[in-house]
Amino acid sequence: MNIPFLSFDATNDAFREEAFATFGRFFESKWYVLGEMTRQFEADYASFNRVKNAVGISNGLDALQIALRILDIGSGDEVIVPSNTYIASALAVSYVGATPIFVEPDIHTYNIDPQKIEAAISPQTKAIMPVHLYGQACVMDEIMAIAKKHGLKIVEDNAQAHGAEFKGVITGSFGQLNATSFYPSKNLGALGEAGAITTNDDELAYKVRVMRNYGSQQRYYNEVKGFNARIDELQAGLLSVKLKHLEHWTAERRRIASWYMEELANCPNLVLPKIAGGATHVYHLFVIRTKSRDALQQHLQSEGIGTVIHYPVPPHLQEAYADLGHKKGDFPIAEEIAETILSLPLYIGMSREQVAYVGRSVRSFFSQS
Ligand SMILES: *Cc1c(COP(=O)(O)O)cnc(C)c1O
Repeated sequence: MNIPFLSFDATNDAFREEAFATFGRFFESKWYVLGEMTRQFEADYASFNRVKNAVGISNGLDALQIALRILDIGSGDEVIVPSNTYIASALAVSYVGATPIFVEPDIHTYNIDPQKIEAAISPQTKAIMPVHLYGQACVMDEIMAIAKKHGLKIVEDNAQAHGAEFKGVITGSFGQLNATSFYPSKNLGALGEAGAITTNDDELAYKVRVMRNYGSQQRYYNEVKGFNARIDELQAGLLSVKLKHLEHWTAERRRIASWYMEELANCPNLVLPKIAGGATHVYHLFVIRTKSRDALQQHLQSEGIGTVIHYPVPPHLQEAYADLGHKKGDFPIAEEIAETILSLPLYIGMSREQVAYVGRSVRSFFSQS
């Protein structure tokens, strides 16, 4: 059997006709930037994310940095970021001139450990950026309580967790401004670059709309020094179509994850995903851990199974962040995670047999070694 890490076959099949029809409408509309498709997707996504406003942005990284900028976070400020996130979370903080302050994750959920946040707060701290990593919601009640106590803003990085919840509240609706990405491989993915900012604050939503469009609401009158960070009109149209499938796609991801849990139950030397009390998981990724990660990855490769490491180097050890002066050992939990994690194939259309094959291959590795 040959099982790629990711396949778009089934998702594309599910919306092929509507995708081509959407392109036809887009083509004939002759309105290619910030048109009806953007307005419609913003309404659709706001409704899905149970917020008053969604503003389409060029990509997830732009959405994060614009959110921080609009909350007046900049030079000299600090933002608390998990030490095991994708580089984009930290880069957004750096782009606005602030410093990312890393806080270790919980070794079981891989999400930021609320118990460790307060020790990282200084007079310069302005915000906390919870990242709902791999699709699991962070323990948001504790994080919100800390933010409230210290007068900090919350900017969620919801790129991996469209539709996840903590105690019934959907991710992307907790912070003053929250960012998400619709990069093709995300749970809701465009056929190119796209992202959004979600917020219940109308005034902040207005500022985002201005900031993404050269700082201008009225053409050629610029209120602020803005960006060209508009969502692409065609991607917005395609995303509206795909969004209608998201709920049953999420259910399918959960089903595939439960098959993996069955196949891999009680496998020695293997750590399976764990979910914090009150949180739900939308399984953007199905991540296992083992001390023999590299050998397992090679074994699976030889059996025709694609896997990926999300992520092999934590931000504090990236060359790009040498200026922060961190060294190996500074964030041992993030480092331990980076050395032991492996993401197994999980995509819409995966069959029970495929999951069983991956499960058998993982088990055969551990029975040999
Ligand atoms: C994908 C991702 C981003 C960035 O999104 P882009 O659209 O690629 O810019 C940010 N944070 C996390 C956690 C992501 O997974």
